Amino acid sequence: MKRLALLAAAAASLAFGANGARAETWAIEHVTLIDGLGHAPQSDMTVTVEGDKITAVGPSVLMKAPKGHVIDGRGKYLMPGLMDVHIHLHGGVDNATDTNETRTQALASYLYSGVTTIYDAGNQPENILPLRAAERAGKIASPRIFCTGNLITYPGSHGTGMAVNVQDFEKDKDKLDKQIAEQQPDMIKLTLEEEGWGARPMIPLMPDQLLRDVIRYYNLHGIRTTIHVSSELRAEEAIFAGTDSLAHPVIQGPVSDSFVKLMAAKKTPFMSTLTIGENYSRLVEHPEFLDQPLYAASFSPADRQTLKTKVRAEYQTRLWTSWMKLMTPVAMENIRKVWAAGGVVAAGTDQSSGPALQRELELLAQAGIKPFDILTIATHNGAVLLGKADTLGSVEPGKFADLLLLNADPTADIENVKKIAWVMKAGEIVDESKLPMAGGQQKRRFTPQ
Ligand SMILES: [Zn+2]
Repeated sequence: MKRLALLAAAAASLAFGANGARAETWAIEHVTLIDGLGHAPQSDMTVTVEGDKITAVGPSVLMKAPKGHVIDGRGKYLMPGLMDVHIHLHGGVDNATDTNETRTQALASYLYSGVTTIYDAGNQPENILPLRAAERAGKIASPRIFCTGNLITYPGSHGTGMAVNVQDFEKDKDKLDKQIAEQQPDMIKLTLEEEGWGARPMIPLMPDQLLRDVIRYYNLHGIRTTIHVSSELRAEEAIFAGTDSLAHPVIQGPVSDSFVKLMAAKKTPFMSTLTIGENYSRLVEHPEFLDQPLYAASFSPADRQTLKTKVRAEYQTRLWTSWMKLMTPVAMENIRKVWAAGGVVAAGTDQSSGPALQRELELLAQAGIKPFDILTIATHNGAVLLGKADTLGSVEPGKFADLLLLNADPTADIENVKKIAWVMKAGEIVDESKLPMAGGQQKRRFTPQ
């Protein structure tokens, strides 16, 4: 009998997912709550979690004796799990080290860094789709994975190597049907990019009518769209072609006042992606960032060494490094202006590790956005961009219990988002000691009573 019960418990723990612990009932008491929706932080709150959902949120004084595990949240800060809505999942520092194992390690690095949702904005389908399926089946320790699979572009245009290439809507419609049927994109990514992207020669651009037709076709299948753009001109065209979001801020030059007004009026969400441009000069000028605890946990010693030597030497000689160093502050100011006018920015890195999202938050702070607002940008706004705000991105009853408990006030200093007490995904507190981290086994941050 006892043996049977143990077997049943083992089966339940498998059913409940990656960290080996069954999702249970929790009450986080006397905590300062940052709900992700932009409401002022509320002190002395209780949040209860049953199974994979948040069941109640209220002042501790009004909440009757909660059942399940009680966590004393005094002096701590509870917020939604972070979302990185622009990544391209790969493992290790180059193609040679990109394997399913290293991709799994990269996924673990997100959970370790407090990121509970990612959107992969373009990948080889065979690299990302099996991992999305494994995550949804609770078979791997991973943030929630949303992805496009292949992106869509015009032959020879930006991203053509990982794209379904479309030239003529009527003739190529079956390619889109196949992409939808086989890859089931959570949101489809297109590219609209031509000459002047960095120092590249002119490359072909998707014609406007084709862009409209593809966007409409995906929307008619219930699928949202996002578009890679880097200039104000193409961003505006993408918006009026009907896109649901933009995959980057304007990077190529300062935005005009009318573009700021457009973004504030339309509220088309866009991904911040400052980290991708900044990472080149950062590695050249400050390679020691790789010794920070999050990076040491998330990258193998060999990869950190390769980054500090071979990759750094490459970056030192690349024009791209100087170009991006010059343009990142321009992109920062563009983001700040659109945000200040009421536009919707969501945190995304265009990178492939959890620490990169934490870096994105630092850069948004450097752009002049207050830490409190960055927390909304990195949670609720990501959910809005993905069309998932009904289930993700905020601390409210009925939402998935994807939560981050912090030991220090993130509204006082964005660095405090790294002071993680625990990470919860789908009602389960992550056991860091069981994550397959590239930097080796980590200590569990929190042991439930
Ligand atoms: Zn990208």
